[in-house]
Amino acid sequence: MNREDFPILQDTVHGRALVYLDNAATTQRPLFMLNAMTDAYLHYNANIHRGVHHLSQVATQRHEQARQKVADFLGAQSAKEIIFTKGTTDSINMLAFSFGEAFVREGDEIIVSQLEHHSNIVPWQMLCQRKKAQLRVLPLDANLLIDTSRLEDIITPRTRLISVAHVSNVLGTVQPIHDIIRIAHSHHIPVCIDGAQSAPHHMVNVQELDCDFFVCSAHKMYGPTGLGILYGKEQWLNLLPPAQGGGEMIEHVRFEQTTYNQLPYKFEAGTPDFIGSCAFGAALQYMDHIGRQDIYAYEDELTRYLEQQLSTIDGVYVYAHGIEKTGAVSFNVFQGDRLLHPFDVGTLLDQQGVAVRTGHHCAEPLIDYLQVPGTIRASVAMYNTKKDIDRLTCALQRAIQMLA
Ligand code: PLP
Repeated sequence: MNREDFPILQDTVHGRALVYLDNAATTQRPLFMLNAMTDAYLHYNANIHRGVHHLSQVATQRHEQARQKVADFLGAQSAKEIIFTKGTTDSINMLAFSFGEAFVREGDEIIVSQLEHHSNIVPWQMLCQRKKAQLRVLPLDANLLIDTSRLEDIITPRTRLISVAHVSNVLGTVQPIHDIIRIAHSHHIPVCIDGAQSAPHHMVNVQELDCDFFVCSAHKMYGPTGLGILYGKEQWLNLLPPAQGGGEMIEHVRFEQTTYNQLPYKFEAGTPDFIGSCAFGAALQYMDHIGRQDIYAYEDELTRYLEQQLSTIDGVYVYAHGIEKTGAVSFNVFQGDRLLHPFDVGTLLDQQGVAVRTGHHCAEPLIDYLQVPGTIRASVAMYNTKKDIDRLTCALQRAIQMLA
């Protein structure tokens, strides 16, 4: 699907045609997005919102159009609910600070799960330390899915917020977030969904999900680095204080007191990445042009093929085998009882031109739970092919022979 739109895929690595299967870390960028970015710098580079001159007005219009595109992409009710941040990590930090200031007191509790990315653990942990609150952890079931049957036990009258991943960045598994949101709301607890790994591969509709907050990163969705989204229901965002002070987020500043701007600007202190937002808008336009439903169906087929092909190799153990996945598959290689170190396997794959990710994938609590030093993760995007996966399995078999 449209490989030629991604120039980097024509490159060679160690003399071999590149097979890029590290898309869960970051996707490659289409020329369409890169051209939009260059175009913005060349033709409407001016600071937004404050200028009466033509360039500033064009830049402002493009920035706000991009916000509307993101709102449409995520199914938000209004563009006011879309806050531009630096990425998923920044979004969660911002939310943890702001929500914590308004709603978390000593003895309160925040719930995350065993499989979260560090970015969905540490900001909450820091909040808990600051407020003398407690971080509670939802365990996993036998299928390595968040165990929703335990949620009612873990929720207490002191629970203030639940924050969980939509899709595990390690295992690629789709988590039961509908149940989590339903149960949480029956206790009037808001839910934040870490959509870093779902927004690139799923028709996300935040209104249908009914989540209170949703976060994702542009660079995992064919967009620029350094840009992310914090979606929040308008009624929640209205209740939260700004996380940062500065320009743009203010209405009036006096030494005695400052009043804050309306949504979403209240949360966007300083000059935003207006070039990045326009480029992200172009990336979303590119996905729409290809057809999001078609992209997602194709990626699902590739993910199934990936799991299937890996499972046929002697000694390969696929985590959460047979459980619904999107985009990524994690595995390890065993020779008898001996685990081949993921780093060694990954290095030998790289020497054959195949890029995968190895290690703890920024989810050490999950890796500890799996009792391994790390895993090998292959993850797909719209431009991958079954031939790429065949190159991976072929290279993997060679690597296993070499390490025997
Ligand atoms: N959450 C999940 C599930 C992720 O996969 C990632 C990145 O891999 C993040 C959060 C952090 O994203 P970023 O580094 O773009 O802020």
